[in-house]
Amino acid sequence: MEDLFERTILIVDDEAINREILGNIIQSEYKVIYAENGKEALEKIQSEGISISLVLLDLLMPVMDGNELLKAMNEEGLITEIPVIVLTSEKSSEIESLKLGAADFLTKPYDRPEVILARVRHSIELFENAKIIHATEFDKLTLLYSQDFFFEYASQFDQRYPLQKMDAVVINFTRFHLLNELKGRMFGDQILSAMADGIRSTLLKTGGIAGRKDADTFFAYIPHIDDYKIFIEKINEKLSSLLKASETRLRLGVYTDAEKSLPILLRFDHAIQACNSIRNKAGEEICIYDNQMAEREVFNAHLLEDFEAAIENRQFKVQYQPKFNITGDTPRLCSAEALVRWIHPELGFVRPDLFIPLFEENGLVTKLDRYVWEEAAKQIALWKKELGMTIPVSVNVSRVDIAAPDMTDFITKIVKENGLEAKDYMLEITESAYTSDSKHIIEVVEKLRSLGHKIEMDDFGSGYSSLNMLTSMPIDALKLDKAFIRNIQPGNKEMELVNLVLKIAQTLGVPVIAEGVETEEECRLLKEAGCDIIQGYYFAKPLPPEDFSKYAGNDKGDAK
Ligand code: C2E
Ligand code: CA
Ligand code: CA
Repeated sequence: MEDLFERTILIVDDEAINREILGNIIQSEYKVIYAENGKEALEKIQSEGISISLVLLDLLMPVMDGNELLKAMNEEGLITEIPVIVLTSEKSSEIESLKLGAADFLTKPYDRPEVILARVRHSIELFENAKIIHATEFDKLTLLYSQDFFFEYASQFDQRYPLQKMDAVVINFTRFHLLNELKGRMFGDQILSAMADGIRSTLLKTGGIAGRKDADTFFAYIPHIDDYKIFIEKINEKLSSLLKASETRLRLGVYTDAEKSLPILLRFDHAIQACNSIRNKAGEEICIYDNQMAEREVFNAHLLEDFEAAIENRQFKVQYQPKFNITGDTPRLCSAEALVRWIHPELGFVRPDLFIPLFEENGLVTKLDRYVWEEAAKQIALWKKELGMTIPVSVNVSRVDIAAPDMTDFITKIVKENGLEAKDYMLEITESAYTSDSKHIIEVVEKLRSLGHKIEMDDFGSGYSSLNMLTSMPIDALKLDKAFIRNIQPGNKEMELVNLVLKIAQTLGVPVIAEGVETEEECRLLKEAGCDIIQGYYFAKPLPPEDFSKYAGNDKGDAK
């Protein structure tokens, strides 16, 4: 750190000769600025801020003397930001200065230059160390700065170089925990060290500093550059001996020319937001925080603020999308998926993919999901009464929901209260949830299955479960991710993937549900390939419960 910036020292003395003697000694190591009295010094301190590392202060001066300046610095809280060494010729005034927060003394006539320099250095060091005493300086594994220390130095960087355009960069390895799980912690550690090496060698070119946020996320604060590929290239270089190119999944989010009036943490939040937005975009590695994201942030804040009122005022509506069994001659309605919508008083219809991920981040999703689960349970009971038939419903379960220790109790309660059978109340759990904390999830899923519930693995194919992991997962159906269905043609690559999934399902002995089926052609191809159940606009969009009743009542299962 030491050589990153030159520190500035303010010498305050009314005697030109004293200023010159001291200045000559100090300027061999520091940038020096001067003031002729306390008043002038205070103005300089106020305008330069804490980019001044130390003040050397004469006590006897006209206009405003040394102790008066110390008082003023106390009043403005500056004394805790900048150390002051008092220059005195008489012992008696020392006590007063000490009370006022002076850090050290130099007595006139001045000592040898080395002694003065040493004391100046010592004071600065003590002061800077004290400021960061709570931060553990380095991350042990990667030898980059730990998070707190990184932010502290990033802020100092700004103080020293207020005019330099800076970029806040976040680098992450997508689904790193999977590597840890599959290849062991030791291997994971090697990956992280290699990533840190790559980042370090990038900094040799760009300048700036880097730190480790947590597990697989790194920060860099660098003078502005235009092309961030250099990070990806350097990291890939270091990773190449450990991983195949196809196994590395780097994501980089940048808040470019970061607005310095924002707190440093917020600037990095923006970069994190950019980085997170890459999550589902294959082949995209770099994302730059832009206006659209800023607007999105405001929109998100709005949604978060309105959440409680929305629950209270029942603005969340549940729609039901039918699923059809296509194994026989005619498709038969076999169940429905409950999908939530938000009818917002100002924003109108808000799609769930705009608020579900947001509420997952904030843990609010559990409250929402329990509301939806209860609505769905009531709805099944209502249809039973209205239509004289049971329409099994599957509800979506977020990863966050499963963490709550009373999840299974809650499900059991609502199923019982509405007089349902567990087998008619199904749960959809997304594939990536299984791979994030598989042990706990498997426990919960096993419990639910033992109670009689059916579990569907949602969005299958979008995650990274290995065949090995799949065989140990307790599930009752695989729900093929929508993305697979797009573009299926006889014999093409997409179709081969679908066939592969069907084979996996066969091995596991579970049916396959294809969702997002929009055309007759898609439906036919899937049926021929051996897919069991179909959900999609081809049959019906998600419907409000009243419409669903009509739909189910009319067809009694013979829809098409
Ligand atoms: P999902 O669980 O994969 O739900 C299927 C999504 O595909 C739904 O989007 C559905 O409307 C849409 N879809 C169905 N058929 C077709 C089709 O033929 N073509 C196309 N293009 N799309 C089709 P929706 O309702 O917007 O929900 C999006 C996601 O939000 C859901 O994806 C699910 O992950 C989440 N979600 C929805 N409701 C809930 C809920 O109550 N709780 C939780 N935790 N998540 C929910
Ligand atoms: Ca689903
Ligand atoms: Ca899905």
